[in-house]
Amino acid sequence: MPVDYHLHTFRCGHARGRMADYVRAARKRGLREIGFADHVPLYFCPPERRPSGLAMTESELPQYVDDVLALRAANPDLPVRLGIEADFVPGREAELAALLSGYPFDYVLGSVHYIDGWGFDQTELLDGYRNWDPDALYRRYFLLVQEAARSGLFDVLAHPDLLKKFGCRPGGDLTALYRETASVIAGSGIGVEVNTAGLRAPVAEIYPHPAFLAACRELNIPVTLGSDAHRPEEVGFGYHAAVALLRRAGYDRLAVFQERRRRLVPL
Ligand SMILES: [Zn+2]
Ligand SMILES: [Zn+2]
Repeated sequence: MPVDYHLHTFRCGHARGRMADYVRAARKRGLREIGFADHVPLYFCPPERRPSGLAMTESELPQYVDDVLALRAANPDLPVRLGIEADFVPGREAELAALLSGYPFDYVLGSVHYIDGWGFDQTELLDGYRNWDPDALYRRYFLLVQEAARSGLFDVLAHPDLLKKFGCRPGGDLTALYRETASVIAGSGIGVEVNTAGLRAPVAEIYPHPAFLAACRELNIPVTLGSDAHRPEEVGFGYHAAVALLRRAGYDRLAVFQERRRRLVPL
């Protein structure tokens, strides 16, 4: 059952198109269930220092929720879930929990987009990679992913090896780090996302790496599937490749969510 659980909206400032057109595109691609998961407001930055173009403002959040709920009501034959993509920032867990608590989310995607305040997935901040030894950077990143898993804030970890986006690779083998991370995720009881946005990035590879996905499969970690669409044409992007990757790893089911309760459906 093809599902796309990672759709953005114009409100984040770097996506475009009407939300209804994302739903229309999902129908055209034969998707059976979708979820909007736009970027959470930048709760970890002081309000006067929140860069525009990264996420909706806090005052826009209620309207985002209402718009998704209205699309759900208008599409009774296509489940439209209310999700959100929330940045994990250590030390700020209580603020995020408070922000999320007022809304009826079906699921929360947890994302590590920042390492000590550095937005390592932003093209404008590529210089930051020069400050790191790749091995140390990978270790630091995956420790944050583990901390995000343990935080109890999230249902699913989005694009769980996003650090490879621009092609930064450590010298050594990552299997041990993948296994260690998968074991923390399995212990936390949450899932991971297979995300096709990596195919559109310089790395040209789905998140996560097949070896990471294999480590997740070994521990029975449930998976969701998402395109990370920032425009209607990207809904369901790269799904043949994603489904093939999942099957090669031994997955035959996907996780779907309603009111933060998980269910498995055939892939
Ligand atoms: Zn985005
Ligand atoms: Zn993301």
